[in-house]
Amino acid sequence: MGVYTQAITPKQSCVLCMESANFCVCKKCEAEFSNQINSCKTCAHPINSNLDFCGQCLSNAPIFSRAYTLYDYQGLVAQLIKAFKYDKQLCIGDYFAHKLADKYQSLQDYDAIIPMPLSSERIKERGFNQVLELLNVIKRKQQVIIDTHSIKRIKTTQSLANLSFEQRQIEIKGAFEAKPVPYKRVLLVDDIMTTGASLSELAKTLLKVGVISFDTLTLSRTSKL
Ligand SMILES: [Zn+2]
Ligand SMILES: [Zn+2]
Repeated sequence: MGVYTQAITPKQSCVLCMESANFCVCKKCEAEFSNQINSCKTCAHPINSNLDFCGQCLSNAPIFSRAYTLYDYQGLVAQLIKAFKYDKQLCIGDYFAHKLADKYQSLQDYDAIIPMPLSSERIKERGFNQVLELLNVIKRKQQVIIDTHSIKRIKTTQSLANLSFEQRQIEIKGAFEAKPVPYKRVLLVDDIMTTGASLSELAKTLLKVGVISFDTLTLSRTSKL
């Protein structure tokens, strides 16, 4: 538990097991969340060895330098993320926002944070922007700029869930439009990273408007490639 999660202790029940808890997720369920799998330092893809980088990054390095992620996308965490995103359970978003803020504290300083922009159609359909919810605690507690204005999603992409890596890259190409920005080092934030195709395209777009270095921070990383 990090400093922020400790500070808030209203009594409630765990959304996963219904036992009473200090937050909307109890300690027992939380203990099942894992980030055990050794993963590539630049793309967070799970690797079955203790190497630092996956084969794909070794042959074709991604545009971002480091990919930080909190959880492997599986089991209770996957269930919790779905309840947050699709059932709009905002207390879960708040829980994750505290976890991301704890992680953010351990990272180096960035000139700005850029959340993954969603299309207005997607926001309308979902009723909220889940990535902004996840940044709520960082926004309250940290001085860093959270830039939601300089980059826009100009293409509504179909769901990338069932597409291959190559198909994802084609689908996401040209999806963003950016204004020139005054900063150089940014942290890109998204909820789930799968192949990293969206984050790469976002970084490529920002590279053209003055950003020179990128790390990514995501809640969860799936093992799908
Ligand atoms: Zn529980
Ligand atoms: Zn990699």
